[in-house]
Parts: sequence; C-alpha cells; structure tokens
Amino acid sequence: MKSLIAGNWKMNGIGQARVEIESLIERFGGSMPGDRDILICPPATILRDFARSYSDEGIQFGGQDCHANTSGAHTGDISAEMIADTGASHVIVGHSERRADHGESDEIVKAKANAALRAGLTPIICVGETREQREAGIAQSVVGTQLEGSLPDAAGVFVVAYEPVWAIGTGLTPTIQDIAEMHDFIRAKTPESTRLLYGGSVKPGNAQEILAISNVNGALVGGASLKADDFFPIINAAP
Ligand code: PGA
Repeated sequence: MKSLIAGNWKMNGIGQARVEIESLIERFGGSMPGDRDILICPPATILRDFARSYSDEGIQFGGQDCHANTSGAHTGDISAEMIADTGASHVIVGHSERRADHGESDEIVKAKANAALRAGLTPIICVGETREQREAGIAQSVVGTQLEGSLPDAAGVFVVAYEPVWAIGTGLTPTIQDIAEMHDFIRAKTPESTRLLYGGSVKPGNAQEILAISNVNGALVGGASLKADDFFPIINAAP
C-alpha cells in the first residue's frame, strides 16, 4: 500500500510557512516523490492559496476539520464542500484536540466524515486513548468504540489515524509493539484498503521504525511537519 505522510499544522502557519514548504520541495529536487503521498493540512485561511501554489509540485492539501452540514447558519464553521472548493483532497476529522476543545462526540465525527465523503474529500478519522485509559488496560476497547461510532457509512475511501492522546506533542510514543498491536486491531475493523496512519510525536529519529510496522501505512505528523528539516527525513523514512 502506498504510504501517506500527512502534516497537521494545527493553528500554525503564518510567517515561515511558505519558506518551509518551498524548502521542502527544493530538497526533493523540485517535485515530490510519486511513490508516496504527501499531504499538508494548513490552517483554513491559507488552504486555498497553498493548494493553488503547490499542488503541481505533488503536494496534496487538506483541511483540519469541517462542519457536518453543507451550508447555513453556523458562524465560524467551514463545510466540507468549501474545503473541497479550495482544491483540497482530504480533511482531518475527530482530532483529539477537536474532541476535547469542542466537545466532539463520535456521532459528530461520523457526521463530519460522511459530509467529507459526500463532498468528494477523503476524511482522516482520528482515534486514540488517553494515558489513563492505556494504564487501565482499556486502550483497545476505547479505540474500538471510537471506530464503531466515528467511521462513516457513506460510500468512499477513508483513512484512520491512531493518535494516542498522551503521545501528541509530548515527545512520548507507545512502544513499537503497542503501536503494532493497536494497528492490527484497527486493521481487523476497517476495510483492507484503508490506510492506517500513526500519529503522536513522530520525529526524524523514530519515523523509520514506526513506518516499518506492517499495518502502519503512514503518519500524521504535527510539530515535526512545520519545519522542512524535520518533515523531509520523515517523508524519506516511509517505505
Ligand atoms: P505531534 O502531533 O506530532 O506534534 O505529536 C500529532 C497530531 O496531533 O496530529
């Protein structure tokens, strides 16, 4: 399966963003390698500009969230159709920061994933346990429940990102064996063609061994996707 290396820029991306993205493209000799998919999810304010400027160089672009409705009285929200209209191909839904900061339930995440598919986008559906849940030995059942509640019922291809909440932005990662076990568990609950990404403190130093795990088909990278110096070796580590 072709690897997908996705950068989640979160609420970052003014200032050096253009310099970093151009430096990344330059390191690949002017266009991105075709044997893996490279996706960047910048803030919505620069999504259209970046999708127009850099899609020809082989970078795909995605949103970080979408509303479940097509249009209407939802101040501050952005629909999946609007994200598709920028030239984006993907949208992240159900990131743990959205689940925590905006109270998004599995039901809401599922509605967003369905909306994304209807708009012609590939949703990247995030799941993952907290530290307390892992320590209590219920990580798989938590992720199982999230998958049951969050996966779309609309037809189409989607991606699942396993992101343990305690590994995001902390420098901590599960052991290789723990990642492998969770990805095998998720694989058994998703269509065979579904790409499964690992996310949570992926860095140049750990990318190769994480990306070599059999049911890991790519990575969702936060902090280390902001700098070409870090993102370049992670992309190169993909098999
Ligand atoms: P991190 O974030 O790589 O900075 O840990 C990952 C994510 O939240 O998608």
